[in-house]
Amino acid sequence: MADYDPGNIFAKILRGEIPSHRVYEDDAVIAFMDVMPQGKGHTLVVPKAQSRNLLDADTATLGPLFIGVQKLAQAVKKAFGADGVTILQFNEPASGQTVYHLHVHVIPRFEGVPLKPHSGQMEKPEVLAENAGKIRAALAG
Ligand code: 5GP
Repeated sequence: MADYDPGNIFAKILRGEIPSHRVYEDDAVIAFMDVMPQGKGHTLVVPKAQSRNLLDADTATLGPLFIGVQKLAQAVKKAFGADGVTILQFNEPASGQTVYHLHVHVIPRFEGVPLKPHSGQMEKPEVLAENAGKIRAALAG
């Protein structure tokens, strides 16, 4: 397996070098909108600790990461009135991973609505901004 590359796009988002529609941050994780959502409100939860994926992650990263995943899953369900939430996580190219900094996909689901393709079509920035606002509002209570 290749080494972690600090030039990956999520490391740049974590450092604030490129913009994102950020909805949540704590000591361990940030969460922001996926620019090519597989469904309305598709959010990514990203640990601040560096690892390529789950396979090389420090175990200390995992508890706080999944606390963040649960928080965002509850928030997106509330924000969009979703019927369910799909959690996805990919490791290495054979699995479909395209960005090599550990992250977890949190995707609101609606009865009868299939997932769109992974890394498919770019969403309009104004739609991402509106959805991010709804998630922030849900997180605020
Ligand atoms: P992976 O295949 O690595 O699990 O997923 C990477 C995800 O990141 C994809 O769902 C893709 O749409 C998303 N993505 C790729 N580039 C960017 C970007 O620059 N900003 C954001 N917010 N998401 C991205």
